[in-house]
Amino acid sequence: MNYPFARRMHKIPRSFVREILKVTEEPEIISFAGGLPNPLSFPVEAVKKATSKILDEEGEQVLQYSTTEGYAPLRDFIARRYSHQGLNVDVDDIMITNGSQQCLDLVGKIFLDQNDGVVMERPTYLAAIQAFGLSEPKFHSVPLLEDGVDTPTLEKLLRTEDVKLFYAVTSFQNPTGITYSKKKRKEVADILTDHDTILVEDNPYGDIRFMGEDIPPIKAQLPDSVLFGTFSKIVSPGMRMGWIVAPPEVMDKLVTAKQASDLHSNYFTQRVVYQYLKDNDVDGHIQNIRKLYKSQRDQMVKSIKEFLPSEVNHTEPEGGMFLWITLPEGMSSLELFDLAIEEKVAFVPGEAFYTENPEVNTMRLNFSNCCEDEIVEGMQRLGRAIKKLVDAKK
Ligand code: PMP
Repeated sequence: MNYPFARRMHKIPRSFVREILKVTEEPEIISFAGGLPNPLSFPVEAVKKATSKILDEEGEQVLQYSTTEGYAPLRDFIARRYSHQGLNVDVDDIMITNGSQQCLDLVGKIFLDQNDGVVMERPTYLAAIQAFGLSEPKFHSVPLLEDGVDTPTLEKLLRTEDVKLFYAVTSFQNPTGITYSKKKRKEVADILTDHDTILVEDNPYGDIRFMGEDIPPIKAQLPDSVLFGTFSKIVSPGMRMGWIVAPPEVMDKLVTAKQASDLHSNYFTQRVVYQYLKDNDVDGHIQNIRKLYKSQRDQMVKSIKEFLPSEVNHTEPEGGMFLWITLPEGMSSLELFDLAIEEKVAFVPGEAFYTENPEVNTMRLNFSNCCEDEIVEGMQRLGRAIKKLVDAKK
């Protein structure tokens, strides 16, 4: 049957990362390709207790339908956490979503018609390209520098093109690990204040800072903007619990879009998460995750210096789960991928993270999901694969 799929479906490739993950599932492969949190950080026992408690105490109620915006005490908990970070947010500014991935889908739906302008970072989060891509927008991109987006290029783009949204992952970006400095955040806020473009700030890793000083999201300086958050990296990604923070006019449209999509996020899980947050020392838990990821990150940086050729550049993230490697000019990380699989190590070639002009000598490494011994062994294997590629080019 020649199924008459909508035009938008022809333009969106299946996630390259998901395809790659299939190759890397073989047990002897050490994979830096996925983006998985370390399962050691999952609070299994505490979640079990929280689940029993709500079922024992309010079983019928927690299994019922609920409101689109989400469970008010959970939204209130999120709002209070923001106030500690210098961001004033009201319960009504928050809607619970099915992970922060759903925020991307909803924002695409409420703002984007075909050919509308969207500015992305270069490189950017792959699944954001996918989510916005379904609306068939016109993508523009702005390079990421060490301390955030290249602001003169951003300013020029907003001045010369019709741009509805600017999507930015401002802390420990996926895929690069780059974080916007305080200065950069102010510059971006100033530029956006002068234009009608809306900042869509995605901050799934903000809590996973293991070095340096916390910096509030740009939204603290730009109240008209939209901000995403998630429990995926601090509690559990499988629970699919995220949220969106938006001004009232935007929230109104988001609620309509979410009703059409799924009525509301899983209410039972909202109640489990809230009970878990209420009964446990979440900040202590986050501290433990930070400690764990810092030592994994330190080991990866150390192993890069030890086992990869000195011409290889890399970011040194202060948080999150990823770092970004740039191979010498003229090398292709896609070619390297095949050699790396022969050596039984995997990563994601950088090409997947660009909307245009991909830098083919780049690659993303995840450090949160391998133990330190695997990181050392995996980087040795990667070093051998790179050497093979260099020798083949000679
Ligand atoms: N945004 C970014 C930048 C991410 O890296 C991720 C996780 N890979 C997400 C959104 C989606 O995360 P979740 O839906 O689990 O909250």
